[in-house]
Amino acid sequence: MFLEILGADGSKQAGSHLVTMRLGSSVLIDAGSASSLTNTEQLRTEMVLLTHAHLDHVLELGFIVDATASQRDQPLVVKGSKAALAIVMDHYMNDLIWPDFTNISTTHGPTLVYEELEEQEWIELPGGIHALPVAVNHGAGARGFLFRSDSSCIVYTGDTGPTNSIWGRAAEMDDLKMVIAETSFPDRLTDIAVASDHLTPELLEGEMKKLGRPDVPIYVFHLKPWFRHEIERDLRRRFQDRAVLLMRGDRFTF
Ligand SMILES: [Zn+2]
Ligand SMILES: [Zn+2]
Repeated sequence: MFLEILGADGSKQAGSHLVTMRLGSSVLIDAGSASSLTNTEQLRTEMVLLTHAHLDHVLELGFIVDATASQRDQPLVVKGSKAALAIVMDHYMNDLIWPDFTNISTTHGPTLVYEELEEQEWIELPGGIHALPVAVNHGAGARGFLFRSDSSCIVYTGDTGPTNSIWGRAAEMDDLKMVIAETSFPDRLTDIAVASDHLTPELLEGEMKKLGRPDVPIYVFHLKPWFRHEIERDLRRRFQDRAVLLMRGDRFTF
């Protein structure tokens, strides 16, 4: 299975791309930069798995469904926690900000359907990958995920401040291949990071002690673009080569 990074930034300015990853050819994780997919790739997308409903993660969900609505022969499935889906339904695709696509039909049913994720219950995704949603410490119904293929496992925090359950679940995985963890602010802005439920390199170091797997590489995403160089310096001081920044265009197999 491949994981392709379409966007890994924690906000938007010239040259940055909001968080979106493609898990195989039919699943998107979040939709901040979904419109960078070609029309064919968008049509192949069967499911969008939301970590949570903050704007930087759902921004282009409305555009991918709009762009493919008239061509779809099956609904686009949007999966997320009950809280995250309620926010999208009530405050985004509500026939005010953007159409409610659950009421717009194709020849084979609605254009979009919402499906709730149950906390800490494994599900099988299109393409055969299994995913375990785990509640993390962040707003808007946030979940991180463990993803398991036939051969290995990865842990993806989504947005989070210091948290516990997901590290406990990841530590159980003997074949854990990579940690994908958010880090939004540099060390000198710990107060802002804690207040907004995000991590700094220092806080990430504490999280990695909870995981207790120094053998596993860390890929860092969700940097505020204007703090990139400072965060990079802080990461290098604490992790040396173990932590690298996730970049748009990166592609991993697991
Ligand atoms: Zn975010
Ligand atoms: Zn967020």
